[in-house]
Amino acid sequence: MSSTSTLVKTQLLVGGQWRDASGGAVYEDFNPANGGKIADVADASREDVDAAVAAARRAFDGRWPTMAASRRAKIIYKLAQLIAERANEIALMEVRDNGKTISTAKGELGAIVDCFEFYAGATTKNYGETMPPPLPTYLANTVREPVGVVGAIVPWNFPLLLASWKVAPALATGCTIVLKPSSVTPLSAIELGKIALEAGVPEGVLNVVTGANNPVGAWMVEHPGIDKIAFTGSTATGKNVAAVAAKTLKRVTLELGGKSPAVVFDDADLRAAIAGALYGVYYNAGQCCEARTRILVQASIFDEFVAQFTEKAARLRVGNPEDASTQIGAITLRDQFEKIKEYCEIGVSEGAKRLIGGAAPELDDALASGMFWSPTAFEAENTHRIACEEVFGPVATFVRFKDESEAIALANASEYGLAASVWSNNLGRANRVARAIRSGSVAINTPYAVFPGVPFGGYKQSGYGRELGMETMRLYTETKSVLTYIGEKPMDPFGV
Ligand code: NAD
Repeated sequence: MSSTSTLVKTQLLVGGQWRDASGGAVYEDFNPANGGKIADVADASREDVDAAVAAARRAFDGRWPTMAASRRAKIIYKLAQLIAERANEIALMEVRDNGKTISTAKGELGAIVDCFEFYAGATTKNYGETMPPPLPTYLANTVREPVGVVGAIVPWNFPLLLASWKVAPALATGCTIVLKPSSVTPLSAIELGKIALEAGVPEGVLNVVTGANNPVGAWMVEHPGIDKIAFTGSTATGKNVAAVAAKTLKRVTLELGGKSPAVVFDDADLRAAIAGALYGVYYNAGQCCEARTRILVQASIFDEFVAQFTEKAARLRVGNPEDASTQIGAITLRDQFEKIKEYCEIGVSEGAKRLIGGAAPELDDALASGMFWSPTAFEAENTHRIACEEVFGPVATFVRFKDESEAIALANASEYGLAASVWSNNLGRANRVARAIRSGSVAINTPYAVFPGVPFGGYKQSGYGRELGMETMRLYTETKSVLTYIGEKPMDPFGV
């Protein structure tokens, strides 16, 4: 498969210059589908992180934040255009770094371009407000000013997509950025750094630091020179980020884990619900924060739904991610692979009924060193660990419900609240249930809920803050109130 890929050696992007990590440290990056090495990646030290933060600060003190918004918008549009031109090449890079299928990666590249274009447009709409005068002799208005240096920390499941959700609004509002990709999927962030420079993003506005271990992210969260952390990752790490960031009172937004429900009523279009539920679980090999892995099905159609779902799931094509017909690619990390295996064992030991999968598939020799998992489904209780903890793999759990109120109770019986789907042809019911579910997004009769312009983020343990929306612009800005005295007589409160 990736025999044609060439080994690369990457560098850090600091202040517009590409440079090795101090001391020349590197770590190895592998293709999870075949175990082949694909890159030597610069392994940043604390000194490198300091240099990146200092470069971002210098750029923030420069012309970027005060540049005409229309000019910044043009640069972001250019960036979007350059990504679009190289979409196929970057998609393949993402496939080799992450193990996702080429069709998924190409879809993501389209969404990345859309995200940059959306925020390019938003750049010129970063409006303040004018208040009713607090006194007749006053004008009062607000301006939205960039929050400063943003530390963007992203996970491995959608490497460039999740970076774009942070970098695009940060650029639009005039912030400067230190971007840290996951250690296992660093390549597309480095490519973004190259494209940003080419698009005319001034030196130091976007810095990219890569590192083998967690300290790079932790150093950023502690760093007094960073004003805001935009974090996507697990709930456990997110809580740590919030606690550490509090010491320097950084602004923090957290996009964290999930265990999202798909609620299927007996009046749903069964075919559409099954197709949507399959996609909701197995898209990106289930390594998806908003995966609808808890499938709650009304008792009257439960057996039929489960039979049709599992029959189709077992036929999904698992294998070479570079093959356009593959539907489930590789598991990105060894630890993640082991975690999925362990959860399947826990499911069996808790008494959940395994319906399909639960093991690695047999694949051809070229993929023998890769990490793959067969589409898996269990019938479970909502309280089983496999049904309530985030597995982050291609594992569905089915739970049955009697009626609308039980469906709502089960959907909400989770510590998470990221997303949900409701399948019903009774739009009154679908909307009632959508309203009652405590999650950041609810998709009715569709598995898709993520689009630029539509806020995305979590309730409860799924985090706080929203990405992708116009309100996201607020999370990258501070409000400054400006009060102007317009009276004829000078003010003289002390009568001096
Ligand atoms: P993770 O929390 O292990 O790591 C996320 C990022 O944080 C990585 O870049 C990592 O190097 C860095 N990091 C680790 N420890 C850190 C620390 N102490 N301080 C600062 N940074 C640190 O998560 P992961 O395993 O890479 O990603 C999977 C998780 O991400 C899942 O829980 C998934 O649900 C979540 N996720 C959420 C969303 C969302 O939008 N809500 C999207 C994708 C993934």
